[in-house]
Amino acid sequence: MKIKKDDKVIVLSGKNKGKKGKVLAVFAKEAKVIVERVNVVKRHQKPTRDFQGGIIEKPMPMYASKVMLICPKCGEPSRVKGKKVEGKGVRACASCGEVVDKV
Ligand SMILES: [Zn+2]
Repeated sequence: MKIKKDDKVIVLSGKNKGKKGKVLAVFAKEAKVIVERVNVVKRHQKPTRDFQGGIIEKPMPMYASKVMLICPKCGEPSRVKGKKVEGKGVRACASCGEVVDKV
């Protein structure tokens, strides 16, 4: 997976095209991700003891191939390339070379 939890991504296609958000969860097996405030479904929630009721917004999983990492340095949607730092494989921005992962 080129996308990891807590990455900032932009949506490339579909009805959410152009939306940006933080990756909240990654499902490697399904190649899907959940992105904050993207692909949201609204649900009416009945009041419970802890919740007063109303509409809750829940982000649904979407295909990871539809999102692209936003480079924290150049701020552009970037292709990710593999890089080795101190013997560890990390992800780096293909345009500016910034290492995205913490080593
Ligand atoms: Zn970059």
